[in-house]
Amino acid sequence: MERHCVQTMTKTEGPARPAAGVSVKVPLLDLKAQYAQIRDEVRPIIDEVCESQMCVMGPHVKALEEEIARYCGVKHAIGLSSGTDAILLALMALEIGPGDEVITTPFTFFATAGCVARVGAKPVFVDILPDCYNIDPSRIEAAITPRTKAIIPVDLFGQLADMTTIMEIARRRKIAVIEDSAQSIGAKHRGKAAGQHACMTTFSFYPSKNLGCFGDGGMLVTDIDALAERCRILRVHGSEPKYYHKYIGGNFRLDAIQAAVLRVKLKHLDSWSEGRRKNAANYDRLLDGLNLTRPVIYPHNESIYNQYTIRIPNGRRDAVQKRIGELGVGSEIYYPLPLHLQECFAYLGHKPGDFPVSEQAAREVLSIPIYPELTGEQMQAVANTLSQALT
Ligand SMILES: *Cc1c(COP(=O)(O)O)cnc(C)c1O
Repeated sequence: MERHCVQTMTKTEGPARPAAGVSVKVPLLDLKAQYAQIRDEVRPIIDEVCESQMCVMGPHVKALEEEIARYCGVKHAIGLSSGTDAILLALMALEIGPGDEVITTPFTFFATAGCVARVGAKPVFVDILPDCYNIDPSRIEAAITPRTKAIIPVDLFGQLADMTTIMEIARRRKIAVIEDSAQSIGAKHRGKAAGQHACMTTFSFYPSKNLGCFGDGGMLVTDIDALAERCRILRVHGSEPKYYHKYIGGNFRLDAIQAAVLRVKLKHLDSWSEGRRKNAANYDRLLDGLNLTRPVIYPHNESIYNQYTIRIPNGRRDAVQKRIGELGVGSEIYYPLPLHLQECFAYLGHKPGDFPVSEQAAREVLSIPIYPELTGEQMQAVANTLSQALT
């Protein structure tokens, strides 16, 4: 495979391409490259947590919460065990449960709708826009019933959903909005960052997100005092004071080591996201003219490019993914099966064809390496292999 890669790389190279005989491996994500940059900052702070043996919550969690609140331009930030738990907690704080409906997109990571089902409510899917993959706001009103308690728009791949239109609908119909911004911390819609639009916004610090910790972590941000207070109590089994349980909560706490790592990484987040945007602009040039669709970022949005997701039409996506993989380029399909067709949601009674835009996206999307440490040579190699795989 190595040899094959060398041959194919050299065959298509023009004068500006990498030198003959250079094989360029490009993983989908290279977290070791990121760690190498921050090792000297991270090690002492981890040592400090180890020495303190304050492993759960504590001063780093509190400081991180303040820093994230400032970063997002919101009043409250609550450190949590994962992005999934942040969505779950938001639903619990709104007392959403059996008999309630929650509108969301079928083209997202499982957790978005999984949490709705876990609190006993019914996920009600609304199809997406074909260009940006986010929920289509023009279809939301038709899905609202007297049982609708919340909408969960997802900010997919680093671009915010149309929060202006969604919030207008939600205000008029008196429905709460929980924004699943697991992939989009720092992204903007009409000049306002994730966190400033919905009643509650949730983030994930899973390692593959733009701001990732060394394990699992998450955050919920809100401007609403009463909801913040309730979330803080629910995070520790609903107890306030300790051992007196006001609500039935859970263990949704964030570890001190994760918070310490995140405080170091937060300082780099904007430059990393800027690096991804530069890489995206470079791909936009390199992939121009190939038989694929490049990501669409609306002019009023600023993406953080958690993914650079292309579309490969005509049933060729899987073959192209296999071929570029053989040539040394990593990629991933986010997401291969829309949620309404997942086995666990069979009880909702959906069938293929119910959400055709999502279903077509699931057949055509392919996310390629976009991490900030990518070199120009690597990006050229990705473009070359795609060009080859498509001919
Ligand atoms: C990553 C992700 C989550 C879940 O976050 P975890 O921290 O892995 O629990 C939820 N929703 C979306 C859209 C995600 O990408």
